[in-house]
Amino acid sequence: MHEVKKVLIVGGGIGGLCAAIALRREGVQVDLVELKSEWTVYGVGIIQQSNVVREMARLGVLDTYLKAGYAFEDVCIYNLQGNQLARIPGQRLAGPDYPANMGVSRLALHQVLSESAMDLGAHIRLGTTVERLEQDAAGVDIEFTDGSKGRYDLVVGADGIYSKIRQMLFGDQYTPRFTGQAVWRYNFPRHPSIDHLASYQGVDGNAGLVPLGENLMYMFSTSHEPDNPWMDPNKLAELMRDRIKNIGGLVGELRDQITDNSQVVYKPMEVLFVNEPWFHGRVILIGDAAHATTPHLGQGAGMAIEDAIVLSDEVRGADSIEIKLGRFMQRRFDRCKYIAEQSVLAGEKEMAHDHAFDRVGMVKEMLKLTAQPI
Ligand SMILES: Cc1cc2nc3c(=O)[nH]c(=O)nc-3n(C[C@H](O)[C@H](O)[C@H](O)COP(=O)(O)OP(=O)(O)OC[C@H]3O[C@@H](n4cnc5c(N)ncnc54)[C@H](O)[C@@H]3O)c2cc1C
Repeated sequence: MHEVKKVLIVGGGIGGLCAAIALRREGVQVDLVELKSEWTVYGVGIIQQSNVVREMARLGVLDTYLKAGYAFEDVCIYNLQGNQLARIPGQRLAGPDYPANMGVSRLALHQVLSESAMDLGAHIRLGTTVERLEQDAAGVDIEFTDGSKGRYDLVVGADGIYSKIRQMLFGDQYTPRFTGQAVWRYNFPRHPSIDHLASYQGVDGNAGLVPLGENLMYMFSTSHEPDNPWMDPNKLAELMRDRIKNIGGLVGELRDQITDNSQVVYKPMEVLFVNEPWFHGRVILIGDAAHATTPHLGQGAGMAIEDAIVLSDEVRGADSIEIKLGRFMQRRFDRCKYIAEQSVLAGEKEMAHDHAFDRVGMVKEMLKLTAQPI
């Protein structure tokens, strides 16, 4: 009666797809619904650190994943003049033959994960979501927006920061909060020196350069935008150049190449943390639906991927759903809360122009924690 044989995943982002892969590998029947009818993801990259590389191995997708991006070892911190301040060596958590870190375009990552989920037999429907959800002790009845119905042992809300499933569980109790900062991103041909993650830090600005492939890298910068202003799409390149005007080194050399407004990806930072168990009965939230944070530690997607794997571990066996999901929470809550809070803190220190902020220390502590098994 307590066995989890059939699961509905709501949301086909990084967390939902990883949950589909991990659950299929456990032999669980998986239906996944994704709101978008065209399964697009926006075209910049993502940093995936050693804990993620390790979990990609557990998901069984490591080799295709490594081919899809740019593997690298170290993270280097530079000052705003481009002088190196620190080098944080990568940790090879997936084993000595595998790299420490990865930069990968979101599109390439999506292709690896969606193909793997489909090959493993997940049943995926696009342009569909949950209209109504009703649960009893033995299962969850779902009415979908296309009029179809289904009954499931477990429903996983992996539908991102504006989660509809979270709304169904918690009402308006949790809503995203703008932190005061925004992120600017732009792709470039990879510079030969960017074979590592280069982070430029100072009280007058910050930026990073991340390799994504032999011929591709991206630049990101975070800025303080107190009133969350509307940004004119026809001026995004000029605005991004302005936000990094105090930065030298390679960032300074590349600045004038930021000319195409349509290629600037601008995103205000929003956060949300569900500060109580992320489930009611047989419905649980994972990823950004439960704990969306800022990108300062580059671990948001990492936490969503870890959630997916821990969930697939814990649904095994004959214990009650409450015990299974309770064990999941025990393994996830503190770790995700730490990442959420430290990421937000890093943003607050940037906005306060805090000279004493020890960013390198924070990153080292985060790497130590995330190296621990999940
Ligand atoms: C600027 C920026 C930079 C970042 N950089 C990094 C980084 O370098 N490294 C890192 O690890 N993390 C990073 N993150 C965080 C990372 O992007 C998120 O944590 C991650 O995407 C969360 O995955 P998710 O699957 O939980 O949610 P999402 O990626 O938001 O996916 C949710 C999916 O659900 C779908 N959906 C939404 N509503 C519904 C519905 N009602 N029904 C069905 N489907 C629905 C959406 O269309 C989407 O496909 C960054 C975030 C930002 C904002």
